[in-house]
Amino acid sequence: MEDYDIYQKLGISRKVYDYGSRIEKELKPRFEEIDRTAEYNQLRVLKAMQEARVSDIHFAATTGYGYNDLGRDTVEEVYARAFHAESALVRPQLISGTHALHIALSGNLRPGDELLSPVGKPYDTLEEVIGIRPSCGSLREYGVTYRQVDLKEDGSFDYDGIRAAITDRTRLVTIQRSKGYDSRPTLSVRRIGELIAFVKKIRPDLICMVDNCYGEFVERMEPLDVGADMIVGSLIKNPGGGLAPIGGYIAGRKDCIERASFRLSAPGLGKEVGASLGLNQSFLQGFFLSPVVVAGALKGAIYAANIYERLGFEVVPNGSESRHDIIQMVAFGKPEGLIAFCKGIQAAAPVDSFVTPEPWDMPGYDVPVIMAAGAFVQGSSIELSADGPLKPPYAAYFQGGLTWYHAKLGILKSLENLVAEGLAALPS
Ligand SMILES: *Cc1c(COP(=O)(O)O)cnc(C)c1O
Repeated sequence: MEDYDIYQKLGISRKVYDYGSRIEKELKPRFEEIDRTAEYNQLRVLKAMQEARVSDIHFAATTGYGYNDLGRDTVEEVYARAFHAESALVRPQLISGTHALHIALSGNLRPGDELLSPVGKPYDTLEEVIGIRPSCGSLREYGVTYRQVDLKEDGSFDYDGIRAAITDRTRLVTIQRSKGYDSRPTLSVRRIGELIAFVKKIRPDLICMVDNCYGEFVERMEPLDVGADMIVGSLIKNPGGGLAPIGGYIAGRKDCIERASFRLSAPGLGKEVGASLGLNQSFLQGFFLSPVVVAGALKGAIYAANIYERLGFEVVPNGSESRHDIIQMVAFGKPEGLIAFCKGIQAAAPVDSFVTPEPWDMPGYDVPVIMAAGAFVQGSSIELSADGPLKPPYAAYFQGGLTWYHAKLGILKSLENLVAEGLAALPS
């Protein structure tokens, strides 16, 4: 059987398949580099698991208070070892990335403290956590103020602005690694290290926290290797490897993690409680697979960038630049293009492939949003997913793919739709 046969059965035309194959061939050296990073990170995780003496007794479920939950403590030791942290909280009780970030911030800030973001506006959901948008229970309501220094026009750090923004009240510096759904560049771990070194030179006692969402295992280093005090992320993104059905993590300096733990459970209780409810096996197995899953998602992002860039669409990051997270933006310029793209991603899914995504009014958005996701875990964005608001430049934000082959099919399917509707023309 020829490879194309199965693609034909899945609705991909010969022309689209051949165009994709040409691009895939050119990307071979980059894919090999991604595989080498995955190999390195796979061994880093494996080493952490061996050192923590992971055993099948750790897969047993605990209930209730979760005292002496050996599995939970081992999962946290594995995260701590793999990320070079003194301590970690890895819990199903951290219900999302936003929640984990809220716990890390509110656990480590006190009334009168100031929080500083030296990298511009944080991820949307954090605006309400911080109180940038007035919100019930925000840090602002608890007397924590917020200051922000934007990146300069060219994406570089505004060092003078940052120096001027650090006061006696500044307590914690939050650095978002991924651009998320913003247009600034994603920060490499090396650049995060430069920023932390600058901040610590001014005030060595400042806590530097990195929002690590979408960045885990994209590089060989993580932010704790370059001076961060805490990293925070979601288990339904990279480090859950697609298997964690819920969860978040906070890893870093022992005292920071301890303070976060008293906020997560209760003062006096901290890390000692919190049953793992039988999820330790998924957490460990997902973490074990994560470096390879992230590699697949990265290949998909780079493939999509190259597929669409050469057809004249704006893509961020572009087809050739280095990657520091798994998010890809493609701007279609017209609503029909965005919709056709999302329909293609949905049609390629293992779950709900027969469903047609439609633009819809969503809370928190001023225009309809279209979302494509046929995921095993609701809202999981390490699984192949795409969404975008119905407004210029009609950009799709695309991420994930538990396997590279699935990401590839999704992208070809999206292109097939665009070509069929006359919204994209293949080179002859
Ligand atoms: C996804 C994300 C969050 C929030 O995580 P949720 O699990 O969606 O709450 C925060 N910051 C960044 C950079 C993210 O990508």
